[in-house]
Amino acid sequence: MDPALGPPEAMAAKRDELTPMMAQYHDLCARYDEAIVLFQVGDFYETFCGAAERTARLLEIALTSREDSTGEYPMAGIPIDNAESYIEELLEAGYRVAVADQVEEPGESAGVVERAVTRVITPGTLTEDELLASDDNNFVAAIARERAARTGDDELALALLDVSTGDFLATSSTARESIADEVSRFAPAEAVVGPDAPADLVPENCMVTPYDEAAFDRDSAGAKLSTYFRNPDALLASDAEIRACGALLSYAEYVRGGTHEGESGETSDDDTDEAPNSEGGARLEYLTHLTRYDPREYLLLDAVALRSLELFEPRAVHGREDATLVGVLDETASALGGRKLRDWLRRPLLEPDRIEARLDAVAELTSAVRTRERLHERLRDVYDLERLIGRISRERANARDLRSLRDTLAVVPDVREELADAECDRLRELSADLDPLTAVRELIDDAIVADPPIEITEGGVIAEGYDGDLDELRATARDGKQWIDDLEARERDRTGIDSLKVGYNSVHGYYIEVTNPNLDAVPEDYQRRQTLKNSERFVTPELKEREDRIVGAEERADEREYELFRDVRREIAAEVERVQGLAEALATLDALVSLASAAAQYDYCRPEILERDGSQTLEIEGGRHPVVERTQESFVPNDARFTDDRRLAVITGPNMSGKSTYMRQVAQIVLLAQVGSFVPARAARITPVDRIFTRVGASDDIAGGRSTFMVEMDELATILREADEHSLVLLDEVGRGTSTADGMAIAQAITEHLHDEVGATTLFATHHHPLTELTEDLAAAFTLHFEVDQTDGEVVFHHEIAPGAATGSYGVEVATAAGVPDPVVDRSRELVADAAEEDLETDDTSAADSSGDPVPEPTESAPEAATADGGDVPTDVAAELRALDLAHLTPVEALTELDRLKQLLEE
Ligand code: ADP
Ligand code: MG
Repeated sequence: MDPALGPPEAMAAKRDELTPMMAQYHDLCARYDEAIVLFQVGDFYETFCGAAERTARLLEIALTSREDSTGEYPMAGIPIDNAESYIEELLEAGYRVAVADQVEEPGESAGVVERAVTRVITPGTLTEDELLASDDNNFVAAIARERAARTGDDELALALLDVSTGDFLATSSTARESIADEVSRFAPAEAVVGPDAPADLVPENCMVTPYDEAAFDRDSAGAKLSTYFRNPDALLASDAEIRACGALLSYAEYVRGGTHEGESGETSDDDTDEAPNSEGGARLEYLTHLTRYDPREYLLLDAVALRSLELFEPRAVHGREDATLVGVLDETASALGGRKLRDWLRRPLLEPDRIEARLDAVAELTSAVRTRERLHERLRDVYDLERLIGRISRERANARDLRSLRDTLAVVPDVREELADAECDRLRELSADLDPLTAVRELIDDAIVADPPIEITEGGVIAEGYDGDLDELRATARDGKQWIDDLEARERDRTGIDSLKVGYNSVHGYYIEVTNPNLDAVPEDYQRRQTLKNSERFVTPELKEREDRIVGAEERADEREYELFRDVRREIAAEVERVQGLAEALATLDALVSLASAAAQYDYCRPEILERDGSQTLEIEGGRHPVVERTQESFVPNDARFTDDRRLAVITGPNMSGKSTYMRQVAQIVLLAQVGSFVPARAARITPVDRIFTRVGASDDIAGGRSTFMVEMDELATILREADEHSLVLLDEVGRGTSTADGMAIAQAITEHLHDEVGATTLFATHHHPLTELTEDLAAAFTLHFEVDQTDGEVVFHHEIAPGAATGSYGVEVATAAGVPDPVVDRSRELVADAAEEDLETDDTSAADSSGDPVPEPTESAPEAATADGGDVPTDVAAELRALDLAHLTPVEALTELDRLKQLLEE
């Protein structure tokens, strides 16, 4: 147990003797024992005991102590004024934070000030703008497991919620992997895990939160859901989904901490407008949509594919931040559009119609240069409406937020105007969806001053003319002040004292000051208030009365303003769904404009999307790698051509010739096409694929305690089990992590299986040159290679793909170019020559009868390509290898099997 969490032991032992305040702290710690409790004492949030020691160290703040009759307790506090940055550090250190605020003014009631947890801050449920990335969602997930009564299968359901925007999604599957893939797709920051749901579905960087099991109960989850959605059973597909969604809602309400959320000053006077629900949490009024989806509606990308295709994170550890697909494509003008674009990249489409609808819009915006630029310009003025309306709905918005909403609404008519002549359906729909919410805009224009202060309780927020009562109060205050402004001149006249002054200070209020030499001339009605060294200060009964009236009017005006402000805010909150609809339309438009801008800027072409009629075509003319081409001076375009009878390519070529780049660019072009984006190519014809699998490079998982080879086999097993003829499979240097013979054997068996059984469109880069020969026996397989020139021991890379197999690996030449000392290079040459001679003796038959594609020149083969025993594998071993059902082997079984086959060979 972490000593920073839960009720401090030292206090627990003496709970009943503690001072009331400390008892309060103790009890809140007991109630929120998963979080560090920040306990408001005046202007500070204090922590005590174990929590104090921990926060003092983490936040580098002073550790002091507090004494009461029961003893002395360590104490550490952070100033409330900049609590956010400290809270951020606590979150980063892996803690949840429960903020316990004073919810009544000191002295309001007898005894200790009432405190309550007003919010629990956790990584997955943040709403604080300062703690959130603006252009990405921040999800909290819930996972529930249910045994289907009928089939006996375990079903897993996943619910995802972005508390800051109200995005709410749900899905389920009987396949564990499928849910794991969805989890990595949305990368939640936190997961609430139901009873007996497998916690290992949650990736390492995601906080696992145990939560009240009762919330996952079918009935209570269903009941919770129906407080938000009229008919949850119709909305969702299964009990598991209902349980996940209901529990997640209950958790989201719990972290909002119930009735007391709100800005300073409003906590005590009005508890009625945010009624607590049964569990004491507060409803999320802005949560109006729940989207149930099937993972099979989208192009599936598992965690490995997301990483190796560099969608959101650079692959190289020291890679440039922006060396990602999203870094290249993101030209969005608003946070809304940024999030929408990321969502599209996360979930590329499958249905040609839906893809074409986006492509039509991108095409139109690509050619309409002026319109596109003007739209981009206008969209820059769009604020983050989703989070804005969330704040308005949670009663956390200030007057500036309302003005931001107003400024965004002011953009809408212009944007509609730009789309007036739009031709494609998608843009016309969007134009129709752009709801200008004129009444809301006029309300804000009428009610809120143009440049309001941040504070909403101190006046200056409501515009003149909006409210008669307020105007009257202000007029009273103004008149009073005018009277005082004129007072000086009047009194000088009346008393004949030219140096008489009227002044104000916060202790005594208004006064009339007369210097000592003139005190004789002071009239009867002056009452002395204060004596200074050279002067006396006076008031008159009339001045006092005027002053009281001013102060009274000002106070009442401030109160009235606050009341009016909250009415306005509530009136706007009632329009939450319309504002969300507008946000959705603006987000979509921004994402489309962004895709068009990238297309125009980088010279992309519109891909032709083919119907999914069972056959699979992938043709790219002059394709480029969207990220690599941005990071270097020149890039050599390459073609790709795959059809049903040409679906497996074995790609060879020396290191650094461009194999990996080529394979990834093919996959990225397919992915972009399915996003509805133009693609970096001269032309492309693509049948949408249902999944992209990758096994690219050696991604060591040393931290995870698994060997590279094990990881590789594990990923391979997934591919072989789950790929089908509509998948795109990239294999890069598979079989590296073991001996050459093993590696070759595995590579060959995989190739055959993918070709014969799976039928996926496959690109297989390999250093196992004999694999190229294998393609001759496989009807739909073919070879590609990257050729290099070699002059005077210098290697020149052309990065040009060509039919056929490579003639060598040039490893030694690359070593020379890299500056490996001459003696080592010379010795390597000798060894290569030796190996080639041995090769000639053993490896004859297969090379002799090869026609078609060129095969490796034996004399130039690198040592690794020439397996010592490659030529005379006993037929029974070969047969056994062929018969191996790789799709149903676990990695361990595969290793055991390999070991047995090896023994067989050696016998
Ligand atoms: P391989 O996988 O064959 O070892 P890579 O694909 O990793 O080679 O490519 C090595 C480097 O060559 C890349 O980092 C890139 O800088 C460059 N490169 C690859 N393909 C091209 C290309 N088509 N045009 C220009 N440069 C390329
Ligand atoms: Mg490579």
